[in-house]
Formats: sequence, C-alpha cells, structure tokens
Amino acid sequence: MKLKPWVKIFLFFILASIILFFGTKYFKKENAQIDKSLLDKYNISEKYASKTLEYVLKNNFYDEKYLEEYSKIEFNDNANFKEILTTFLPKGYKGEEINYLFKLSTNNLEKLKDKDYQDIHNYYQIKNFDVNALDRYNEYYNQNEYSYEDVVTYVNIKLDLPVYTDTVEVTDPDSILVLVNKYNSLPKNYSPSDLEYAKGAYGNNVPMRKIAYEALEELQKTVKKEANFELLPTTAYRDYNFQNTLYSNYVKSDGVASADTYSARPGYSEHQTGLAIDLKNPATSSNIRLTEENYNWLKNNAYRFGFIIRFPKDKEFITGYQEENWHIRYVGKDVAKTIYENNLSLEEYIDLYVTEY
Ligand SMILES: [Zn+2]
Repeated sequence: MKLKPWVKIFLFFILASIILFFGTKYFKKENAQIDKSLLDKYNISEKYASKTLEYVLKNNFYDEKYLEEYSKIEFNDNANFKEILTTFLPKGYKGEEINYLFKLSTNNLEKLKDKDYQDIHNYYQIKNFDVNALDRYNEYYNQNEYSYEDVVTYVNIKLDLPVYTDTVEVTDPDSILVLVNKYNSLPKNYSPSDLEYAKGAYGNNVPMRKIAYEALEELQKTVKKEANFELLPTTAYRDYNFQNTLYSNYVKSDGVASADTYSARPGYSEHQTGLAIDLKNPATSSNIRLTEENYNWLKNNAYRFGFIIRFPKDKEFITGYQEENWHIRYVGKDVAKTIYENNLSLEEYIDLYVTEY
C-alpha cells in the first residue's frame, strides 16, 4: 500500500508526539518539586533537591552529614520510613543500602536494628535470608563454589556445621511436614497416635500413620495397574528404642562415622514419625529392594500419592544420607508435587517455603 505524502507527515507527527509525551513522563524526575524557600532556609544547594530531602526537612530530622545520602534514598510511603533513616544512617549505611532495608522482612529489620553496620548487599533480595546468619553465609560462600542463594539455603539447613551439632528438638512431631534429620530430633517418647498396620514384604505387619497408610494403598493399586509390579513395605514406624538397638549394632560393626552415613541415631530417624516407609518389590531377590525400572516408576509417580523420595542420589550432601531409593516419605500431594517438580529435598522445601525469616 502506498501512502500519500501528507498522510506520512501526519503519522510522523502523531508518533513523535507519543514518544515525546511518554518519554518526558518517564524521564521526569519526581523530585523536581521542592519548596525553594525550604532549601534556602537550610542553605542547601538545589542539586540535592529530592522528595526524600523534602520529607526529611518537613519532618524535622534533617542532618547535614547525610545530605549526599538523602539524594540516593528513594522516597516511599512505608510507615517506618523516618525510623529506618534515623536508625540506620547513623550506623554508617549509605543511601543505596538504605533502599535495600525496605525490602527486608520485619523480623530481619528488627534483628538488624540491634547490630552495628552489616554489609548485606549480596543477600537482601534472597527471601530466606536471615540477618543473624550473615557471618556464616560469608564464610561458607568463601569456602565453596555456590551461588549466594544456595549458600543461604545450605547454611540455614546447617550444612556448614558438623552433623549432630546445634540440634533442635522439633515442636510439631505430629505435623505432616515435620522435619527430622541430623539437626532436628523427635522427643524420645514420641509415637504417633493413629498407627495402622499394612501387609509387609516379609509377611510382617508394618505400622505407619493412617494418612500414609491410605496413600500407600492408593500407590500400590496404581503401580499394579500401570506398571504391573508390586510394592510392599518392609518397615515404616520404628520407635526410639528400636532405632537405638539398630544404630548401636551398626556402630559396633562399622564404627560411628560409617554408621552415621546410612543409619540415624535414635531420635533422629524419620521412621519414628510414622510417615516414612521402606519399600520392596517382593518379586526381586532378597538383597534387591527395587529394580532400576521399579525405581524409575516410583521416582516419577510417588508425588501423585503425596510421597517423596527422601534420600535421592543428587541430594546426599544435603540429607547426609547415602542414596536410599526405597525410602519414601509422606508429605501430602501439593507439597510432594512442588518438591518433585523443582527437584528439592525436604530440607530445601521447608527452608524455602515454610520457615519464615
Ligand atoms: Zn528408611
């Protein structure tokens, strides 16, 4: 289509005005408007004019020392705008750094108030960042080749500390999401109150929590139908004393260091939750739990029933356990799906999605 010259000129002008209109709007500094007499009163050069400066002057907390910094702080309508400026500028935070502080959680901000100046520029955008662990993050970052995001998660999980140190007894042993590992233990006398007994691979009765029992039944029916093999539990809930005997025997034969890589110390076993199940295909020989094919099915389908593979190969450094492709853990369908789709360990999931920092 050929346009007449006057149409071209007309279109050109329309386009030019649109660019001019939005362009100036975009580049216009919102701080240009400031009462000139206010600046004169404090003898401040116009080049420092900003919305933040205006606010500081009008609210009577202007301090000449921070003139340069005020111009770098983006004004916002946070209720604690004044408090943040008056608390953190005297601690030595620069204007740009003050901007970061508005992105922190209330918890982190409170913790930061009690500390001297901290350099947080590598961390403030990371959602599970904990101000109190800053020194450990920096040290772990220097010792490893991880991203800052991974460093934060791994340190929160305590991977920078030796196993079984700084341990905590969980306060929610009945929760479907309870995390039991080498840093988090169950109370010695905890046992679930809703145990059901499933038919086991060795003709035994295997106790587990009702919700896991029902999910297992669903999984068993489906695996039979879709992949034509059977999965039976060998063990699920184990009490503290049982684990104590088990672990002591392993230590006697292999020593503590070795036993710790494949067996949990009493109180630190996920089996005590009643939500963990060890599986076996009864058609395989006695020393093989699952064939590779069996495991592939389980790995890609367990989440549909609310289970996760708790100790996969690529998460050994996080879980602290050698791969156990037969050990599944009930966490509920939604959580299991997120963990499966994002290739997370339970430790990472809890830290990224549950714990509030
Ligand atoms: Zn197990």
